Amino acid sequence: MNSRVTGIASEPGYTVIENAPLAGRNTFRVPARADMLIDVHASEALPTVAAYGSLKHSPPLVLGGGSNILFTRDWPGAMLSVSTTGIRIIENHSDEALIRFEAGENWNDAVHWSLAQGFSGLENLVLIPGTVGAAPIQNIGAYGVEIREFVHAVEAFEWRTGEFVRLNNTDCRFDYRDSIFKRDPSRYIVTALELRLPRRRALHIDYAGIRDELATLNAGEPTPVLVAEAVARLRTRKLPNPALIGNAGSFFKNPVVDAQTADALRLANPALPVWNASDDRRKLSAAWLIDACGLKGVREGDAGVSAQHALVLVNHGNATGAQIWAIAQRVIETVETRFGVRLEPEPLVI
Ligand SMILES: Cc1cc2nc3c(=O)[nH]c(=O)nc-3n(C[C@H](O)[C@H](O)[C@H](O)COP(=O)(O)OP(=O)(O)OC[C@H]3O[C@@H](n4cnc5c(N)ncnc54)[C@H](O)[C@@H]3O)c2cc1C
Repeated sequence: MNSRVTGIASEPGYTVIENAPLAGRNTFRVPARADMLIDVHASEALPTVAAYGSLKHSPPLVLGGGSNILFTRDWPGAMLSVSTTGIRIIENHSDEALIRFEAGENWNDAVHWSLAQGFSGLENLVLIPGTVGAAPIQNIGAYGVEIREFVHAVEAFEWRTGEFVRLNNTDCRFDYRDSIFKRDPSRYIVTALELRLPRRRALHIDYAGIRDELATLNAGEPTPVLVAEAVARLRTRKLPNPALIGNAGSFFKNPVVDAQTADALRLANPALPVWNASDDRRKLSAAWLIDACGLKGVREGDAGVSAQHALVLVNHGNATGAQIWAIAQRVIETVETRFGVRLEPEPLVI
């Protein structure tokens, strides 16, 4: 592909960039280009965009902050990003509120806004990169909390019908790092998220070091703001910073297997962390499996497994997406050969 942007057109509510570079729009910072990138800054423009020639029958790929996506090649079609902003309290009660966040808002800013307004619930989800619109796609989760606990409704534009729709929590079919949006990726463009946030709720602090981190803050009784501070400190220490080294956070999901398989693996590997996923399903630590295969810190050229965290694949400088994907394949195959468990990537791989 030509390495130059070949045209930019601004229309009311949206901008079209032809031959758009994507290296600055993905946190792996790998090079790639899209034939066309449509930046929608007013949701009302979506029906006009959808009626646009070649787009009528081939829905665009939606790009948020690019923090959960790996480009292994150029994108030979249209990409669309939603950059609408705004946060509005729709219903305000003494114990909770219903709040609407536009899809282009930065997720971490939305968390801080909610804490500053005195709401609780989102404190464990602080510092997850990306946009509000992407949060329901994989039901973002961290430190024992998932966004599905708070989702009242998701507003989306359905490409096929050209209509705006509202999906309630059940419609979204949330699961571990999964939802209807992830399973049927070309169907919906998320335009807004409505969350029901309590003013008080039990804090989730019995997870992965939060309590100890709170103790080092030495600030007395835990509050949502203090929990957010503790989680932010833990994340900053444990995860490589994409501003310094390209990555997309956890590259692999924790595999979920039946209880029998988990018991057998645990018998052979007593240190393997196992959690209950349901009555008869168990979640295994993917990081432990990768580490046990001696893959933490491996590197092929500029693509590698982080030496800081075995779940994170990194771009040490000039890796291509294809090189990062090759490392991912090596991890998947090595873990499968050794433990009989197949890891699945968490990000969208193009
Ligand atoms: C350092 C680091 C740490 C991370 N930690 C966590 C974590 O703790 N927990 C966690 O769950 N994730 C984590 N992630 C992954 C990522 O931050 C989240 O998945 C985030 O929600 C992705 O947001 P984004 O805007 O960057 O989406 P993108 O990466 O741009 O897109 C991700 C997916 O969502 C789709 N999408 C994006 N916006 C829309 C929209 N408006 N409508 C429809 N589809 C859309 C895309 O097509 C794609 O399939 C981490 C990533 C990094 C780099």
